[in-house]
Amino acid sequence: MTATPEQALEQAALAGIHRFAIPTPFAVGRVNCYLIEDEPLTLVDTGPNSGKALDELTARLGERGHALADLEQIVVTHQHIDHLGLVEILVEHSGAEVAALGAAAQRLAAFQEDAELEDEFAVEVMLRNGIPEDVTVALRSVSRSFRGWGSHVEVTRPLDDGGTLELGDRRLEVLHRPGHSPSDTVFWDAERRILIAADHLLPHISSNPLITRPLDGSSRRTQALATYIESLRKTREMPAEIVLPGHGEPITDHADLIDSRLAGHDRRKEKIHRLIAEQPRNAYELAQALWGNVAVTQAFLTLSEVVGHADLLVNEGRVREADDGSVIRYETTG
Ligand SMILES: [Zn+2]
Repeated sequence: MTATPEQALEQAALAGIHRFAIPTPFAVGRVNCYLIEDEPLTLVDTGPNSGKALDELTARLGERGHALADLEQIVVTHQHIDHLGLVEILVEHSGAEVAALGAAAQRLAAFQEDAELEDEFAVEVMLRNGIPEDVTVALRSVSRSFRGWGSHVEVTRPLDDGGTLELGDRRLEVLHRPGHSPSDTVFWDAERRILIAADHLLPHISSNPLITRPLDGSSRRTQALATYIESLRKTREMPAEIVLPGHGEPITDHADLIDSRLAGHDRRKEKIHRLIAEQPRNAYELAQALWGNVAVTQAFLTLSEVVGHADLLVNEGRVREADDGSVIRYETTG
């Protein structure tokens, strides 16, 4: 019998892991932070940089008998602002150590400059894929307006992929699972079969493998979806009983969920292949054919979806990129 999400939360709590669902101003809704009552007292992710999030986090900690100042360690699962915005403030209150993937430390420390570079990169990719300039300008100002919810992060405990994070009563295996973002890190308690997965696997929505720069900060584009699928396959093989996600309820059937996510990507890939076989199109045209006006209002998200699946087709040798020097168009090879 697999446990219900409620039972899974109870089981996690018995293992000393308590979920705090912290409000965010973003469409995704609340973000899950996990308090691990152990030595050191550890908080996995913090929520965004807002008074509302700080109030809620303080209240939840208080219910467990802790003050902000009691936090001894903050773990950052990945580089997205809804997960790490409060780090700086919490460190000021508590002097907590900050643990995160060492390979991401430089970028986390240079948050403002890095966000600016990421936006520049995004605009370039959008233009290369046929998105009109005015749409990119609008998206860039939206991205700037979100930046206040983020924070720069000084990593004091750099973690290695395959390494361990030792707490008094448990060992967490540190596993780099890039795709949703290049810094996605999951934490595996093999003894309790609990995986803290953040946005690597979400119960209600497919994690968007967003177009992005690689961890080293260079401006070559990663194949986010191909990378993500590879990461998902590794997670599928883990004997997890409970997967604790970054948003929504615990997952108790991760292999089935991953199978359905993989099948969904396969269907979308074939649909995109059919559209390209009809006529060569650029990614923006493909997004419009698939989602109509949403391809304009959510241009970057839908572009990431299309380019990610087109990468898979290119890797399979079924599609190629035809580059006229300004815009990339996809055509079939057959
Ligand atoms: Zn995320």
